[in-house]
Amino acid sequence: MEGGAVTVTLAEFCRTLRVARCLAGYRAYEIADELDVSAAALSQWELNRVRPSDEHLRAWADLLDVEVPPGVVGITPRVARCGTRSGYNRHLDRGEPTCAACRAANAQHQRELKEAQCGSS
Ligand SMILES: [Zn+2]
Repeated sequence: MEGGAVTVTLAEFCRTLRVARCLAGYRAYEIADELDVSAAALSQWELNRVRPSDEHLRAWADLLDVEVPPGVVGITPRVARCGTRSGYNRHLDRGEPTCAACRAANAQHQRELKEAQCGSS
């Protein structure tokens, strides 16, 4: 046991962030915009249907001024795969050139983002 630290699961933490967002009066798309993800992606995270990357989780919590509890990040050591947007960001984070598969994934994301914006009324 680590000093009686309360264990918070990722699912609980995502719910906490959702509540924090509502309390702060933010709309989902406002947070999503800041994180450079779609509002749909944010809601998937909030509902814990999709796991955000550690980077996103930290940035998300930071926006809402919520501290990320230990154990919530870094639980999946799996490296972001190429051909995903996380893979694309991993290249950027490391300052390496992006590969074709990752660029395609990122381009697809940008397209979806544009469609989401045009489609919202
Ligand atoms: Zn790649």
